[in-house]
Amino acid sequence: MKILDGQLVSQATKDELKIKVAQLVAEGKKVPHLAAVLVGNNGASETYVGSKVRTCEEIGFHSTLIRLDESISEFKLLETIEELNNDMDVDGILVQLPLPKHISDEKVINAIHPSKDVDGFHPVSVGKMVQSLPTFIPATPHGIMLMLEHYKINTKGMHAVVIGRSNIVGRPMSILLSANSNPGNCTVTICHSHTKNLREICLQADIIVAALGRPEFVKPDMVKDGAIVIDVGITRVPDATKKRGYALKGDVEFDTVAPKCSWITPVPGGVGPMTIAALMTNTYNACLLKH
Ligand code: NAD
Repeated sequence: MKILDGQLVSQATKDELKIKVAQLVAEGKKVPHLAAVLVGNNGASETYVGSKVRTCEEIGFHSTLIRLDESISEFKLLETIEELNNDMDVDGILVQLPLPKHISDEKVINAIHPSKDVDGFHPVSVGKMVQSLPTFIPATPHGIMLMLEHYKINTKGMHAVVIGRSNIVGRPMSILLSANSNPGNCTVTICHSHTKNLREICLQADIIVAALGRPEFVKPDMVKDGAIVIDVGITRVPDATKKRGYALKGDVEFDTVAPKCSWITPVPGGVGPMTIAALMTNTYNACLLKH
């Protein structure tokens, strides 16, 4: 069993970007600028946005964090996005999800100009991804593909089972793994909360991508020997032994599943850091395309 070390690959990606930014500075060119919008004060969202902003600083990108009150109207939020769309210095816009219930995720995502859609959630970006055209790929699936590429895992012809069909992870992951590319060229089965015989389907998988948000859901009796297991899940589970009062759990029961795998991602230290590295790559590309 070998570990797909997201921390290591993410650091390598960030180091490369750092060098590229230093080159831009040396040539007197524009440095990438990411604007992050955080509505309310959800603990997990605070953590995610915080690490995205810190990573920008580490690499040498400019970043702006716009904090908005939980009670902000949808109209005001859309106005903020329009201002960022029109701000020539801003290359990428990310709106941290989930948004409060009175705001439509769809309207907000659709309001971001596709040229600044570094999260890759806009229908224009998704449409291009489906057609394998150059575009911004949603950060988590993009990060997973970068990791498979880094470890030179040849996925051609493999049966990939993706558990979860969300627009931000499961569905784009299924599209990328089935694309005529490397990594890619898999036969993909996408499973969800209404799937019957999930265990039997998983047992046929050469690759399992678990993205359902149910801590330690994938057990060893669902995994065939030698499978590659990518654990996307991150759930905060109350844990009195931890200083912060919770532990982070993936969707895979790591200790029992790992011995059966050829490769597996840990949580934390697997897909999470890769998501940030992929977002930074998208932001760099957004800047390069514009200037
Ligand atoms: P989501 O709630 O939007 O989607 C979950 C999906 O899982 C749904 O399609 C649902 O049908 C499916 N599902 C739920 N229960 C199931 C079951 N019992 N059997 C089969 N399918 C089932 O979640 P999401 O936004 O896709 O996130 C999934 C997980 O990944 C969460 O834990 C989230 O925190 C984590 N996540 C991690 C990163 C990262 O960077 N590591 C990024 C995004 C999301």
